[in-house]
Amino acid sequence: MQGFGKWKRLIQLWKQLDGGYTLMLVPHDGRSISKKDLHTKQMKKVATWFGAVALGTAGVIVLLSSMLYVRNKEANELAAYRAIKAQQEQKLQELAKSTEAVQKQLAVLHKIENQVREQMKKSGMELPGKSELTEKNGGKGGPSKTKVSDLVVLQEQNALLQKNLQASTHDWDNLLASIKAENYRNEVTPNLWPLDGGYISSDFGSRANPFDGYSSDYHPGIDIAENYGAPVYASASGYVQRAGWYGGYGKYIKISHDYGYATAYGHLSSIEISAGDYVSKGQIIGYVGSTGYSTGPHLHFEVLLYGEQVNPRRLIK
Ligand SMILES: [Zn+2]
Repeated sequence: MQGFGKWKRLIQLWKQLDGGYTLMLVPHDGRSISKKDLHTKQMKKVATWFGAVALGTAGVIVLLSSMLYVRNKEANELAAYRAIKAQQEQKLQELAKSTEAVQKQLAVLHKIENQVREQMKKSGMELPGKSELTEKNGGKGGPSKTKVSDLVVLQEQNALLQKNLQASTHDWDNLLASIKAENYRNEVTPNLWPLDGGYISSDFGSRANPFDGYSSDYHPGIDIAENYGAPVYASASGYVQRAGWYGGYGKYIKISHDYGYATAYGHLSSIEISAGDYVSKGQIIGYVGSTGYSTGPHLHFEVLLYGEQVNPRRLIK
């Protein structure tokens, strides 16, 4: 309101000018006083002219500066936009590169997987099926120089890669489970020859009684002739069910394996394990002897499946 008061006074002064004024210049060096009559009409004209010029100039200045401001602002915005766009382009190219790298890695993974499958086929293992996704891995073309429109392509590629990797991981999990199961089955299947050497002196099944040479006898295992004291190995991993003297078998070991299998070892000279022990396939469990109902140093070896003796030679590799 103070500013408004000033204007009010100025307008009053302007109105008072109606009578006219005389401007006097009084020099201090004694020269004569010069006078100038100021007529209201003239003064108002001059003032109006000055006002108009000032207003016009101010208007031009405002217009120019606002134009300059807008232009400058637009230029800044454009520069910022270009910088962002350049950054985005770079990011896209990096994304394209990383996608390509992942694809290469995936190809390597598939190659290894196929090699493992081939190797396993050779050893007669049954494998879980390959998922369809890993087979349908083919794509088309590929951007040499990334554009913004390639973003969609990259997104699709990455989505496909992700699916592919998931499927591949699933395959590998299955493969691993399969190998583990197969290895375990092999571990507990009595297919390891229980001696370093030796030869079969008496086969499984019907035979002539070894003591009289003519009466019929059923042999529930195989006799392997070997030097006295030769090490005897567990034919498969399992728990020792029995370890000690057992009638005509002499010093005897029976091991219970998984999948219904059991093995028995007779006529040993000594026993190296105890009932209740867990023994690993290939572990020394005793030594060849001639204890019990025996004609000379040999190992009587039996394989049982669900309590029934079967021919051990069917399993031995
Ligand atoms: Zn025998």
